[in-house]
Amino acid sequence: MSLIRYKQKRRFDATPEPTGGRANKGKLIFVVQKHSASHLHYDFRLEMEGVLKSWAVPKGPSLNPDDKRLAMMVEDHPYDYKDFEGNIPEGNYGAGNVIVWDTGTYTTYDGDSDEKSLLAGLKKGHITFILHGKKLKGEFALIKIRGGRQENAWLLVKADDKFASKEDITVKTKSVLSDATLDKLAAKYGNEKGDIRGDKTQKKTTTRKTATKKATAKESDMPAPRSSSRTTGSKKKPLR
Ligand code: MN
Repeated sequence: MSLIRYKQKRRFDATPEPTGGRANKGKLIFVVQKHSASHLHYDFRLEMEGVLKSWAVPKGPSLNPDDKRLAMMVEDHPYDYKDFEGNIPEGNYGAGNVIVWDTGTYTTYDGDSDEKSLLAGLKKGHITFILHGKKLKGEFALIKIRGGRQENAWLLVKADDKFASKEDITVKTKSVLSDATLDKLAAKYGNEKGDIRGDKTQKKTTTRKTATKKATAKESDMPAPRSSSRTTGSKKKPLR
């Protein structure tokens, strides 16, 4: 129902990305895609209203409740995007490689699949939910940043439950649907959009060690955050 922006940004004769799809009745699904566009990021998607509400998370999800991961809300994606893996060719929006890094069902905090309360939370800017994925499990929250310069900036935070951990879950680089990693796709498609993990190994950002600089790097399919300091709390770190 709300795929207008998604469709406006893409030319479906030039990209293999899905155009639609009908959600199954029953349990709601989530998916996290790892996407090497102009910069590596993770796309966090929750099924609501038959589409995938989507956030681009530059650093990826964390199991550590102390981490508050910036999540820029982007356009709704079609339901069929949930299994999309492969290559978005050069010249297209979000050009690069995509794997399904995690997927599963999710419920509201009380174990329900009550979309009404989720949509109300979305409107309010605070959603709490339980993920039943292969990599991500337990309670998470998405919290909209109030009074920020950017309307679409949220934080993805793990709640402190039995699934909370200091383990860096992003060291797991493989798709949950296939053997693919971004490196394998880069080799297959002959591009350089590989499995660059974290900020340390990302070529363009290795010199970004100071917190005073504003993030200027642009994702090809996500808005560039303008102020890095307010979104990462007191720890003044660059965004990626
Ligand atoms: Mn993306």
